[in-house]
Amino acid sequence: MINPKTSIENKAYWTGLANGELLLQECTNCGSLRHYPRPMCDSCYSFEHRWIRASGNASLYAWTECHHAFHPSFAELTPYTLVTATLKEGPRMLAPLTQSSKRALYLGMKLKIIFNQVSVDLTLPAFKAT
Ligand SMILES: [Zn+2]
Repeated sequence: MINPKTSIENKAYWTGLANGELLLQECTNCGSLRHYPRPMCDSCYSFEHRWIRASGNASLYAWTECHHAFHPSFAELTPYTLVTATLKEGPRMLAPLTQSSKRALYLGMKLKIIFNQVSVDLTLPAFKAT
């Protein structure tokens, strides 16, 4: 597994995953939440933010079956299901669905974040059906 590059914008996110927490950025100017981590608010263009802990609860917005890995590190996992989920807090997030959750999927299906430690210094999020 090739680790993602950390930056000042995403270091807290990766540390949160390692600690079993999904962290979202909340704009301290307008209150908008965002995911994935990025420097600027999409709503008001402010650079000011704080990190909040997400509940980990989500619902299925869309999914696709991946037969070709978008990154070499995921080649061994193919085929796998990649889902776009709407987090309870509002932002949408893309992550793999656990193998055990591959039953009849439907829009709005309840999902929960899990944290997969794939190496000593990398934890990746995934969703499981609840
Ligand atoms: Zn804002």
